[in-house]
Amino acid sequence: MSNSLESPSPQPATSSAIARQAGLLVKIETDRRLGHEWDEWDGKPLPNAGDFRTTTGKYFLFTAVGIAGIVTASGVAIYLLSPRLAQLASWLPRALYLADAMFAAAGAVWLALIGLSYATNRALLPGRFAERGLLLKTLRLSSRVGEMFGVQRDWTDNAAVAVYDRLAWAREWRVRANELLILIPRCLSRASLDGVMDIAKRYDVATFVATRGAYARQAIRERRPKAVVAVACERDMVSGLRDVAGRLPVLGLTMQLPNGPCKDASLDLAKMEEFVRKYLK
Ligand code: SF4
Repeated sequence: MSNSLESPSPQPATSSAIARQAGLLVKIETDRRLGHEWDEWDGKPLPNAGDFRTTTGKYFLFTAVGIAGIVTASGVAIYLLSPRLAQLASWLPRALYLADAMFAAAGAVWLALIGLSYATNRALLPGRFAERGLLLKTLRLSSRVGEMFGVQRDWTDNAAVAVYDRLAWAREWRVRANELLILIPRCLSRASLDGVMDIAKRYDVATFVATRGAYARQAIRERRPKAVVAVACERDMVSGLRDVAGRLPVLGLTMQLPNGPCKDASLDLAKMEEFVRKYLK
């Protein structure tokens, strides 16, 4: 079933626009319905007109600060508890300090290797120690640390997804067109949706409109693709990558939100085509 646009059931009753592709009629909701990632949105225009593309330094900086914060907090906790710990075993405080120091060293080496992989476009670490494992576990850490410094999470998430994509790109992984799945959200503008469908049609790749993260995961479970090109806002992308990128190769394309979240999103179609071509044999 190629180049078809699918949408999960159930569909919202408020849908109004209709996309026609490969003989299927698919309803695309045009009313704004906020995804839960945007629950706290105050209705004001987003910074930089919803374009959060930025440098990847934010990810590296905030991850380094986060790791340093964990190490420092652990060291303080060990110091405060050391009299009681020493009552349990005299060597225990020293062992915990040592473990804390080893965690700090491992974190520094790991982040340096991720930075080197990013800078050289080479997969220097096995996937489970990089974009298919440890890196995914730092995504929330970096955005939370960024927020503590007053940086809206979307900027840090954008940087993190860019690092993730560079590392994922560095691995060779090719699939047939019917083994690739394009996942798009319900909030794309008409022009963007048309562009995506044109790419899907030209490369004969199935496309799935994920109205919720749960439906995206369901589509992956049912279709069992061997690779995914996913489109989403930074927040949804980070959640999705954390859920599925450990299990199968994913390239993630973030969008721009000129009219606020969850409506009329646009994307870089040239980059999307690059992502699709990257995975095809
Ligand atoms: S991908 Fe679109 S619909 Fe989903 S949370 Fe982000 S902006 Fe909203």
